[in-house]
Amino acid sequence: MDFEVLRARLGAGLIKDGEPGYDQARQVWNAMIDRRPAAIAKCQTPEDVSTALETARSAGLPVSIRGGGHNIAGSAVGDGTVMIDLSAMRSVVIDPHRRVARVGGGATWAAFDAEAQRHGLATPGGVVSSTGVSGLTLGGGFGWLARQHGLSIDNLIALEMVLADGRIVSVSEDEKPDLFWAVRGGSGNFGVVTELTFQLHQVGPQVLFGPTFFALEDARDVLTAYARHASDLPRAGCVWANLMTAPPAGVLPESVHGAKVLTLMQFHADLESGRDDLSRLYGGVSPLGDALSPRPFTEAQAFLDPAYEFGARNYWRTHNHLTLSADLIDTLVSLARDLPTPESEILICQLGGAIADIPSGATAFPHRQIPFMSTPGVRWQDPADDHRVIGWLKDVSDQLAAHSVPGCYVNFIAEAEGRSQDAYGDNLARLTDVKQRYDPDNLFRVNQNVPPRLAHA
Ligand code: FAD
Repeated sequence: MDFEVLRARLGAGLIKDGEPGYDQARQVWNAMIDRRPAAIAKCQTPEDVSTALETARSAGLPVSIRGGGHNIAGSAVGDGTVMIDLSAMRSVVIDPHRRVARVGGGATWAAFDAEAQRHGLATPGGVVSSTGVSGLTLGGGFGWLARQHGLSIDNLIALEMVLADGRIVSVSEDEKPDLFWAVRGGSGNFGVVTELTFQLHQVGPQVLFGPTFFALEDARDVLTAYARHASDLPRAGCVWANLMTAPPAGVLPESVHGAKVLTLMQFHADLESGRDDLSRLYGGVSPLGDALSPRPFTEAQAFLDPAYEFGARNYWRTHNHLTLSADLIDTLVSLARDLPTPESEILICQLGGAIADIPSGATAFPHRQIPFMSTPGVRWQDPADDHRVIGWLKDVSDQLAAHSVPGCYVNFIAEAEGRSQDAYGDNLARLTDVKQRYDPDNLFRVNQNVPPRLAHA
């Protein structure tokens, strides 16, 4: 296989199977993923990416793309691929006057938030700061700010992309609008994004943020209030519910450490009214402990990082729910009693607000009208436990599926392939047309794949 041109361009930035640094460079967030690319191309410029794509095309190899490396299915890395590693392209440039951020394709939200907050600005991102800006955004992207300011894609103004044929292009509402539509939810199917330009908003610097913990015996009452009142919460607020094992937190009595609890992880941009707004979701139940307090926005964005560090084994499922019915709540609470490891959880993400203002066909992200997503996740260290914990998770997922509606968020899918209809829903047909135009040979197929139109015509 001829990698000479790419070697001349990247030098030590090209790492082939067996070369020094190979095993480290192919690692991603989920330690379950153990795949061997043919070569890893650590790119620093769009021209590097273009040469790497040319090499892959000539060698007849598919391409995988690594932004922040967080994808649960490990789609950044594939057996026998040319893996484009963008982690060196992590610049973040803020224009505080225009309230615009230009971000490299390998940047993380930690870097983005730190720079933007120097000017009191932010855009909707994820809830764990080591996650990549690119991968999260291209799938849709929601976190604490999404009910107020929309998905990450709703704040995207433009992208610089390298297409399958090696061209470096600008993509926006005015330039290649069909592609701009597709990348806003169609994930990494259409090219390598080397720069993203976002609209920013004034946020913080202090926000109200933190967990409030409830006894599992009270979880039914709290979740019932949460289900009833979450959609009335002002858009400045966002609350995710988590059935989990209590951490050894100072705000909790020691007798509770290690017990199963319900945690409401709460965000509110309004320091004055936030606490009252949020407490309506407690259903009058007294919490076990409370760490909700004013904090810098950057601290809120990194608050959950310790619970989700790189290097553990992980498996998730995800379901869309139109309501949290009484039956679903009973099921959730009962399942939480048997979480198989202390790091495992059943998470419920709140959406709605500004996300739902935009029609489902306006971008490729189809799940606009979904107010809640459940994401049960298991997390463990020892491969000997794989069968037990994954088996538990699959059983839980089957039970939650009975209360869900079709479709699921592409960024939460743990299976490496085969879930495209669920991920893209009614937008899949239009996506296949765009794919045919920009990637007719399906070079970018290590993902929830959108096949080119002709492939199945
Ligand atoms: P990578 O594994 O590097 O990339 C995943 C895929 O995205 C790639 O295979 C490729 O198809 C595409 N991609 C990445 N970069 C590029 C690029 N530059 N150009 C073209 N395609 C690219 N999601 C949310 O919406 N909100 C959350 O709050 C949230 N929290 C999370 C917390 C944790 C701990 C984890 C593990 C994930 C979380 N996610 C969240 C899901 C997250 O959006 C996905 O895992 C996403 O794929 C991560 O992007 P990445 O760049 O880090 O991943």
